[in-house]
Amino acid sequence: MLPFLDLKAINAQYRDELLDAITRVLDSGWYIQGAELKAFEEEFSDYCGSKFCIGVANGLDALTLTLRAWKEQGKLKEGDEVIVPANTYIASILAITENGLTPVLVEPSETTYNLCPKNIESAITPKTRVILPVHLYGQLADMQAIIDIAERHHLLVLEDAAQAHGASRNGCKAGNWGDAAGFSFYPGKNLGALGDAGAITTDDEELANLLHALRNYGSHEKYTFKYQGINSRLDELQAAILRVKLHHLEKEITARRRVAKTYLSGINNPKIQLPRVCNPLELSSDHVWHLFVIRSTHRNDLQKHLWKNNIQTLVHYPIPAHKQQAYPHWEQNHLPLTDKIHQEVLSLPISPIIEINELEKIIYHCNSF
Ligand SMILES: *Cc1c(COP(=O)(O)O)cnc(C)c1O
Repeated sequence: MLPFLDLKAINAQYRDELLDAITRVLDSGWYIQGAELKAFEEEFSDYCGSKFCIGVANGLDALTLTLRAWKEQGKLKEGDEVIVPANTYIASILAITENGLTPVLVEPSETTYNLCPKNIESAITPKTRVILPVHLYGQLADMQAIIDIAERHHLLVLEDAAQAHGASRNGCKAGNWGDAAGFSFYPGKNLGALGDAGAITTDDEELANLLHALRNYGSHEKYTFKYQGINSRLDELQAAILRVKLHHLEKEITARRRVAKTYLSGINNPKIQLPRVCNPLELSSDHVWHLFVIRSTHRNDLQKHLWKNNIQTLVHYPIPAHKQQAYPHWEQNHLPLTDKIHQEVLSLPISPIIEINELEKIIYHCNSF
């Protein structure tokens, strides 16, 4: 079986470097909030081009804590509305409801699956305070248009960059467009730890300071608690591991782009719709191909056909948030495009180490469907 993602093989490439990093932390005797975290935060903010990076325990906390910080600052209050794409992963929405804020689910663009500026405009009400674009599957949302709308309506912008480390447009990377951004380093993400980890990037020093406290029990100073914070720290071991992986990220993104290009030029079946990119592929820095998502009105049969030919695929995502038991009162939401996307999308295997003969096999079986 050709697996959807072979994390063991991806990490094995860096085995010696990772073992050195792990040993360094083991031998240091310091495991929480130390030199490795500080170094990773500096290296990741340098990479993104943002002034500050605050490491936290996971991507969900990165989003939740940023909204929480804006509440502490008086920029948001319970009941305020946050515009979010209806087809996102549940975490973007959980971060909103956890803060007592109201998600306003809007239909995405049919071609990019990202927030559509026109739909944002029509969802704005007097209670709207935040736009939460998600760079889904690794492609930057239409950030220039989103920033323009936010400025016109005095809204905050929180990017969910969990799938888009390194995606950039006009030299500006994901995590550096909005007022703040949340990243995830879940093992399967393009920059993945060997466990849970996340981070927030921002240029706002006051926000960064507040987040430093909120992730650590609300404390700036040991045993002094200014806020009712939480424990959401990125530990030294994961920080050291992420420093190794960050070093190889650009090379891995280049390899993913090569895979995407091979799929785009090889798959040729009228029953399959390929992902669309804004720029010609050679120029396109705005997609880092976390996922390669095709669409078909025969999705389930296509997935079975590939499975029978020993190719594992996944669906991102099978059930939209408004159809989840966690949000029973949203069942009546009318989001036909979001529903259709969830019925039709299929993610093909993509990774920096997938081999050309494996790609050829996948392309062959897509075309034979
Ligand atoms: C993975 C992911 C998250 C959550 O990250 P965790 O580290 O798993 O908490 C949030 N948003 C999106 C779009 C994601 O893909």
